[in-house]
Amino acid sequence: MATPSESSDSPSNQMPESRDASILIDTVDVLQNGSGTNVVRRKLTGFVGFSNLPIQWHRKSIQNGFNFNVMVVGESGLGKSTLVSTLFNMPLYPPRSEKRPSAEIPKTVAIQSISADLEERGVKLRLTVVDTPGFGDFVNNEDAWRPIVENIEQRFDAFLEAENKANRANIVDNRIHAVIYFIAPTGHSLKPLDIEVMTKLHNKVNLIPVIAKSDILTDEEIVAFKARIRADLDYHKINLFETPRYEVDSDDTMEEKTAIVSKIPFAIVGATSEVTTSDGRVVRGRKYPWGVVEVDNEDHCDFLKLRAMLVKNYMEELKEYTNEVLYENYRSAKLMAMGVSQDQSVFKEVNPVVKQEEERALHQAKLLKMEAEMRMVFQQKVAEKEQRLKQSEDELFARHREMKESLDKQRRDLEAKKAQIESGRIYMSTEEKSRKKGFSLRS
Ligand code: GDP
Repeated sequence: MATPSESSDSPSNQMPESRDASILIDTVDVLQNGSGTNVVRRKLTGFVGFSNLPIQWHRKSIQNGFNFNVMVVGESGLGKSTLVSTLFNMPLYPPRSEKRPSAEIPKTVAIQSISADLEERGVKLRLTVVDTPGFGDFVNNEDAWRPIVENIEQRFDAFLEAENKANRANIVDNRIHAVIYFIAPTGHSLKPLDIEVMTKLHNKVNLIPVIAKSDILTDEEIVAFKARIRADLDYHKINLFETPRYEVDSDDTMEEKTAIVSKIPFAIVGATSEVTTSDGRVVRGRKYPWGVVEVDNEDHCDFLKLRAMLVKNYMEELKEYTNEVLYENYRSAKLMAMGVSQDQSVFKEVNPVVKQEEERALHQAKLLKMEAEMRMVFQQKVAEKEQRLKQSEDELFARHREMKESLDKQRRDLEAKKAQIESGRIYMSTEEKSRKKGFSLRS
């Protein structure tokens, strides 16, 4: 019986051109991809249903909701909490209590995490913001990176542990999916502390550098500052998150990606309150005697581009890169350090033809080996048998010789006796004769 895909080959079964072109897949042929695997392309003759997969995925995602963990690193006062509240359009941080002048200053960088459940048009998001109060605030900021890196690694470790448990159904992903690194708007270049921290972080997290409070710099100063920062990052080989490019991306999407990347490091302005512009518009921004700096205006700052990268366009990619590259690298380095090595052959791509050929050769070799072993055993058994036969032949000869000798001896004895008897008989007959004549030879 022909399978449905085979029957679709016959011209009589092919769909007319006018039918839904989106469900026709190329022509029927066998392609060979890079790995040598054969890909058979078939024409679908009717609706199958897998084009609904994105809808299924969408439904499941809406049901499960999303989570996103972002860390903000930068000196205090650079506007970290303001930016987070601006990004997610709500006051995330609790109101800060005024510090008294005598209040004791903490001696190390603290790690604080705040979570909130957000909902936008039915889509649920559990947002966790991890703040690093105290970072860069000390006279000696050596090792300021340590608690931050430790926190990121602890989150990887917790995930690794959860993955290794028998029940992995409800693993909570607390790994950091992005770090927004706040650069002080000095207008000079990166500070040694910035370089040190970013060097320690870039292989463990998706790093997104931003120029904080960019409203205090002029447009020209921002352009020059960005160029110097980019040169510094290049020089120190610090990797930043790169927006992925897909074949299906339209020209517009590609253009948007290029526009986003060209703005890194994003010059941002944060503001949670609304102000009225001179032309009467109510906007999120910062009001100055000379005018209003609008947060959501591309001509005023790069806030919208940052939001596109972090939330609107690439949140899932940030999570995916964290899981598939950053965590994977950490995980394998950790397991290797523990002495657990990976059998690479398990992961190599398998070509069924090559695999079959390998198995056939293996089977052949096994047969030859078995044949050789059987021949050896046979020869050994024959040699043993021959040896045993030879031995019993020798024994037979020896017994035969023994018997012959004993018979010869018996014959000789008998002949001797016979001779003796015969000689005795002669003597007796002579004596009898003499007795009959009346005399005896005996004395
Ligand atoms: P954090 O300590 O880094 O979390 O900084 P905050 O968000 O608490 O902000 C410290 C101060 O800077 C506050 O008075 C904010 O209003 C102000 N601020 C925040 N963002 C900006 C900005 O983009 N531009 C300017 N000029 N001030 C800002």
